[in-house]
Amino acid sequence: MLFNYRYVNHSIEAFQIYMDHLVKEVWCKATAEFSVDLLHPELREIVLGIYNTEEEKRRGKVKDLPYGPIKKIYDRFKDLDAAQRQQISNWYDYNNDIEALCACDPLKPPATYADIRAIDDNLGEGLKDFCVSLFTDVIHLKAVKSRIGGIDEHYGAFVIENKEGKCPYCGYSDIKGAHHTRREAYDHFPPKGTYPFNSVNFRNLAPMCQECNSAYKLAKNPTRHVDPIRRNTGGTRRRAFYSYATVASGITVTVTLKTKDVTNLLPNDIDLQLTAPGREEEVEAWKDVFGIEERYKAKFCAKNDGKAWLEQIVEEAANGDLTSDQLFAQVCRAAERYPYDSANFLKKPFLAACKAAKIIRTGQADSVCVED
Ligand SMILES: [Zn+2]
Repeated sequence: MLFNYRYVNHSIEAFQIYMDHLVKEVWCKATAEFSVDLLHPELREIVLGIYNTEEEKRRGKVKDLPYGPIKKIYDRFKDLDAAQRQQISNWYDYNNDIEALCACDPLKPPATYADIRAIDDNLGEGLKDFCVSLFTDVIHLKAVKSRIGGIDEHYGAFVIENKEGKCPYCGYSDIKGAHHTRREAYDHFPPKGTYPFNSVNFRNLAPMCQECNSAYKLAKNPTRHVDPIRRNTGGTRRRAFYSYATVASGITVTVTLKTKDVTNLLPNDIDLQLTAPGREEEVEAWKDVFGIEERYKAKFCAKNDGKAWLEQIVEEAANGDLTSDQLFAQVCRAAERYPYDSANFLKKPFLAACKAAKIIRTGQADSVCVED
């Protein structure tokens, strides 16, 4: 990713505290008959609140006793031995250390649902249904929102702290902000359908633009090399950028054109280098998951992007007071100060490539031209 988000504390994080307690103190210590009194006091109130909310029952959101899935999982844990419980407790910690997960920390190997199923098939399935539904259904219930706030409220706080207005994963699409009545969808970076326990961990949740989220990332797993057969869980681990890192990714975009015919420019005419020294694996994961090469090359070929950037310099150099060198220097200064305004971080290397290919001729204004 091109720049990092700043993490925002919010009351909705209480859900993760309830999960900590549920997994570590209730499920991993399951012995006697299940009782709702075993739950974290606030979660117990929420659970009973859900059960008592007639409206939510009527709308079909509550299909079962609200603690039904919790009890079913509890009963599966009762059959596990001490080593298995400890293993799952460790996996809970590893899967929720999202920064370590993205960094491929060898001391914190995460677990997938397949790992849980290898211990107990029914437990794996039950946990998957439960953890996924926490984000898709439970966190949106009135009984939850009235106590710890909803996703919309979190988004409101998030965009006050993160005002860039651009998607950090592609760098050019808009992200809805404080003055919109709609919001972007949150993505689970390591996917919620692959890793148990972190579906309501907000360090694993980040808004991204519609194109990044719904057209490219989907349920891909950035933290695994792609395995054509087993997909999200099959490949070996790989490092991926962490959305809330405090160190910049340091990505540099370099473009080389293999043609001077920008009018008919095609992706194959463009050599695009995306580099960040020492972060090669993270860059590969980013490119792979978000289709970055395809999208940036398409942008360079588009009439209102690459071609327009070039034509503006050509026309201004021909009709104005500045030479093409001076106009290019302006673009460089803008890219330095405002890299994500008008895709300046792409505009600068594209125009640099046009200069290097002598599509923009340096020197006097009237010598600038587009060759086609
Ligand atoms: Zn995006």
